[in-house]
Amino acid sequence: MSENGKLAASELSTIPGGRLRKDAAVAWLVMRHFIGTEKGVWVCPTSQRTSYRCFADQQYFWNLYQCGQGALAARPGTSNHGWGIAVDLPSAAMQAAVRECGHRFGWGIRGGQLPSDAPSEAWHATFHPGVFVPPAHPKPTHPYQYMSDREQAARDALVKERRTARRHGGWAELDPSHRKRAAKAKNELKHCARDIAAAAKKSGWDEGHRKARYDYIHKLIGA
Ligand SMILES: [Zn+2]
Repeated sequence: MSENGKLAASELSTIPGGRLRKDAAVAWLVMRHFIGTEKGVWVCPTSQRTSYRCFADQQYFWNLYQCGQGALAARPGTSNHGWGIAVDLPSAAMQAAVRECGHRFGWGIRGGQLPSDAPSEAWHATFHPGVFVPPAHPKPTHPYQYMSDREQAARDALVKERRTARRHGGWAELDPSHRKRAAKAKNELKHCARDIAAAAKKSGWDEGHRKARYDYIHKLIGA
């Protein structure tokens, strides 16, 4: 069983600027990415010793606090830093961002929707296990899977005729009906793309994977 401030390296993961217990690190990194891309603020600990903190470092901070020279510090063996589930944030912008969105990732802080275990410290964020479930890695999917029957049929026809042409050394070597069928399929795909764009104008590009289908069709017809 691990002890506070004495976690094995295998129980910890690196985050920019420090280390955290593995589950806390996953939630932290997802939160960090979210806040960074949404607000342009990239949260990090104040120093290497203010995310996971080993027992000796906690002792050091405790001693400073005890003799009136350091900030408030927990007694060694009692801090959530020693469990690798707390981070001290250096700036007001980082603290505000975690107050606003931390709860979605299992991170509590004073003034946020999840509590902090050190409410007298505005900079101290604590991880609450089990709140945040990291999303499973989505399987890569090809836009073909989202296409309508009409789109798939036209795509299949075009790809089939192109393959035939390639196998025979070019369109010139084939009966002209092949080229005609390919042109018809290509034209059909153009219509499909136009329909997708029209639908997107009304209700957005995300719906029905319109962007992926549209891009794929454009690639097919070389537009
Ligand atoms: Zn702290």
